Amino acid sequence: MLTLRRAEPRQSKKLSLTSLLTGLVTLVVLLTSSILLIGSYESKKQSLMETTLHLNYYNADRMTKTMDSLFQSMRSSLEYSAATLSDDDASTPEQVDDYLELMRNSSNYFNSIAVVDADGLLRNVVPASLGPVGDRITSKAGLEALAIKKPYISSPYMTSTTKRLIVFMSQPIFSNNGTYRGILSGTFYLQENNILSMIFGDNNVDDSGSYYYIVDSSGHLLYHPDKQLIGEDVSSNKVVQKLMKGESGEQQVRNTRSVEMLAGYSSVPANGWGIVVVSPLSVIHYQLMGHLRTILGYSLFPFIILLMGVILVACKLARPFVYLANLVSRMGKEKIVLPEAKPQWSREADLLTKAVLLAVTDIQKQTDQLTQEAATDALTGLKNRRSLEYTMSQWIASGQPFSLIVLDVDKFKLVNDTYGHLVGDEVLKHVAKVIVTSFRPDDVCHRYGGEEFIILMAHTRPEEAFTVAERVRRALEQSRGPIPTQVTISQGIAHYPIHALEREGLLEKADQALYLAKSRGRNRAMVADV
Ligand code: GH3
Ligand code: MG
Ligand code: MG
Repeated sequence: MLTLRRAEPRQSKKLSLTSLLTGLVTLVVLLTSSILLIGSYESKKQSLMETTLHLNYYNADRMTKTMDSLFQSMRSSLEYSAATLSDDDASTPEQVDDYLELMRNSSNYFNSIAVVDADGLLRNVVPASLGPVGDRITSKAGLEALAIKKPYISSPYMTSTTKRLIVFMSQPIFSNNGTYRGILSGTFYLQENNILSMIFGDNNVDDSGSYYYIVDSSGHLLYHPDKQLIGEDVSSNKVVQKLMKGESGEQQVRNTRSVEMLAGYSSVPANGWGIVVVSPLSVIHYQLMGHLRTILGYSLFPFIILLMGVILVACKLARPFVYLANLVSRMGKEKIVLPEAKPQWSREADLLTKAVLLAVTDIQKQTDQLTQEAATDALTGLKNRRSLEYTMSQWIASGQPFSLIVLDVDKFKLVNDTYGHLVGDEVLKHVAKVIVTSFRPDDVCHRYGGEEFIILMAHTRPEEAFTVAERVRRALEQSRGPIPTQVTISQGIAHYPIHALEREGLLEKADQALYLAKSRGRNRAMVADV
């Protein structure tokens, strides 16, 4: 095949259509899934936050109601007892002590109860261990309560004697004729077992990290699971500020330790205190992670199936185009065996496949024809000189031994001169026909030019070539040509590698032998000298 190869332009590395398509659909599926996942995450987060806030508010509100009625009861208890003690001159101090002890133990409202007279002297106190009766009271809250002569409740404060953090509540005592006789006071110890811890529970931090705390009207902690914090001023907390204004509600807030919290809060009308139920925001994250894991658990398998499905479809869609691109790129480099055009999925792929296969078939046919023509002699139909040179070069390159016969029509000029050129051509055709029928199918016959022919005989010794040459010569002698006169031929034989190792040398040797045959009287064959 004498096809010329054009230098191929250097191709930069390009993505294949299959990779592009599968990459694209994978990206689309991944992005869609991520968007859905993020959407689900966000909506779940929102609903979890709302639920937690509502729940915390609901709990704070419920506790507030409990505390409100508790304080009303405490206040009533103090009021009732203050009234009982109003004209109690008849009672001995022991009887008053017993009454106070009964009051303390029956309701558990107060950790300690005391009666202070209008002069500020401690008259009675339970438990008795708290101080010597007859002493003057010194606490700021006590003095204030005594002075205002009204129901009173203090902020938490530290007692100077017992070093306890307490809240002090009192009720004025008036005698029946309206004389101010002092106060009846009850205290509860904030950092010890008290009425609040009895009602709401002591260790109130639940598994999720949620807990509650109570603040008074001045923003001080009255109750907190971390006892160390009780008494601390937390009025900087936004929720506490709202409680101090008597508001109730729910909101996300950063606490005094800079932790994000979901808080529900409610204020207690009876004493101006407030209850806050909080859950750390991290609880939501923890639940969200669980939610995400569940979603992934349910959707991972279908997602993988979907992904594989779309990749498969993308590959199938790309396949005809990839096949056609590869087919066209192979054209001109090798002989392409074209398959039957199979119907394709998409209309465009189907049309394109059919059109390309048709075009390739056509181009191949034309190429074959041109290649054939380029190697053929138009007059005789034998192979031409170009083809001869190519075959010889190939055989020599592969080291294949062969014989070569140069065959020349004798006195052909005379034929032309006598019968004219056209008849001369007919004679040449006739000679070619005789040559083709006389040689073996494996021998390659060429018209070298003019009235000269060259036959290549693979794996043939010079002696054998000579025998064949003689056979052709006789065959021509015996044949009936287009002219009445006898057409004869002279032949020169050379062998590769016996006579020469390269093409030109071999042709020259055969030519010399031919010349010898001509000079010896023509119509004969001669083998070249070694
Ligand atoms: P010799 O026996 O020495 O070979 O004598 P010859 O006349 O055959 O040799 P020569 O080389 O003098 O003449 C060859 C002639 O062949 C000359 C040319 O006119 C003729 N010829 C060459 N090609 C063609 C062709 O294609 N057609 C025809 N009709 N004649 C051709
Ligand atoms: Mg000649
Ligand atoms: Mg001749």
